[in-house]
Amino acid sequence: MQAAKFFDSTLLKKYNTHGPRYTSYPTALEFHDQFSHENLVQAIVASPNRELSLYVHIPFCHSLCYYCGCNKVVTRHRDKANTYLEFLAQEIASRAPLFKDYTVKQLHWGGGTPSFLRHEQISQLVAELKAQFTFAAQVEMSIEIDPREIKINLAEHLYSLGFNRLSIGVQDIDDKVQKSINRVQSTEFIEKFIAHAKQVGFKAINIDLIYGLPHQTIETFTRTLNKAHEMDVDRISLFSYAHIPSRFAAQRKLKDEWLPSADEKFSLMKLAIEKLCNFGYDFIGMDHFAKPEDELSIAQKSGALHRNFQGYTTKGGCDLLGLGVSSISAIGHSLSQNTKVLQHYYQAIETQAHAQVKGVSLSQDDIVRGEVIRELMCNLYIDKNKISQQFAINFDEYFAEDLPLLQTFINDGLVIVTLNEIRVEQKARLLIRNICMTFDAYMKQNLNQQRFSRVI
Ligand code: SF4
Repeated sequence: MQAAKFFDSTLLKKYNTHGPRYTSYPTALEFHDQFSHENLVQAIVASPNRELSLYVHIPFCHSLCYYCGCNKVVTRHRDKANTYLEFLAQEIASRAPLFKDYTVKQLHWGGGTPSFLRHEQISQLVAELKAQFTFAAQVEMSIEIDPREIKINLAEHLYSLGFNRLSIGVQDIDDKVQKSINRVQSTEFIEKFIAHAKQVGFKAINIDLIYGLPHQTIETFTRTLNKAHEMDVDRISLFSYAHIPSRFAAQRKLKDEWLPSADEKFSLMKLAIEKLCNFGYDFIGMDHFAKPEDELSIAQKSGALHRNFQGYTTKGGCDLLGLGVSSISAIGHSLSQNTKVLQHYYQAIETQAHAQVKGVSLSQDDIVRGEVIRELMCNLYIDKNKISQQFAINFDEYFAEDLPLLQTFINDGLVIVTLNEIRVEQKARLLIRNICMTFDAYMKQNLNQQRFSRVI
């Protein structure tokens, strides 16, 4: 894949504003506490989907990475997880009966650090999930791994339990960068772990990389990218470090003068995209790379790529149930979230057997706009007739107030609008969030824009 087509530095800088990542529409900012448990039950009954994607949040981490914006609890005490798993088991037991006519097609454990759990705790949690839900024979089971505090034999343990995908946080292999972000880890061990996991049978391994971290230079990040190439993984997620110290206290440890300038950050991103494309990866959506034979790549080529709270996925027809503190669900025409505070989670499970605190029932307008935004995020393309038929609307009339806002992108050669379609040019791939904002009814008020990270 030619990387040059993704860049026009003048335009990328012009449009480098704040914007949502659109893992949902509306975004979580629109959730409210009037959305009740009964609303969720109604959404399950009304949902046309009978396939389920489960997300399980394990909030614990051994130590604090200073760049982190996740919901986590830092502790050295592994036993804390026992209490958590007891409450999680109660939540699983109370939620599962609502989904008894669903089949689980996908299970993902995120965090925090799911690999914080001991082997026996992992086995116990898998057993509970499998006892309570009906799993498909070909279920996709994935887990996020922090490579710092694991043993090499974690790979066979996970594989024996049915996990078939691993996602490993590499971020950057440079010593100085690692020390500054308080995440020192052995690249040699990561390489060994990945090689071992492949031998054990894992066919789908992802690593995460981050650009824009303190002390990163073209030279150091080139070494990280070359090492990623040597690891020969199936997918690479390339994230932009979003420095928002006003929101994330840990980031206050990172001095402004350590960070790359906007120009340097742009060069790091460009370097990464060029190298990953030259290594033979396909560019997926706005921040993923996959080998051409990987499902994500195949789904993108066939227009079947989907997006949910975990990012890009091939499981479009699934409802998503989040379990654990802070987890988010997307069921039928509803979005909802558990409390983000661990103690509140425990109290809520004890008193009401669930920890949902807010959410939103989607209006018909949310559903139409959500579909348009998802198509743009995943496929960079809108078939106006398809949307018109799907929702019994006239696309141009329905979006009469929105379409003129595309003019700036049309003038800059980023978007082509014809009678039947909206096509986003490859050089606008990195700006897809900006283009989606055109169709975001909530963004029109423009009040919340500063709550989101910059698009680059
Ligand atoms: S980056 Fe991951 S491991 Fe580090 S503190 Fe955040 S959630 Fe924990």
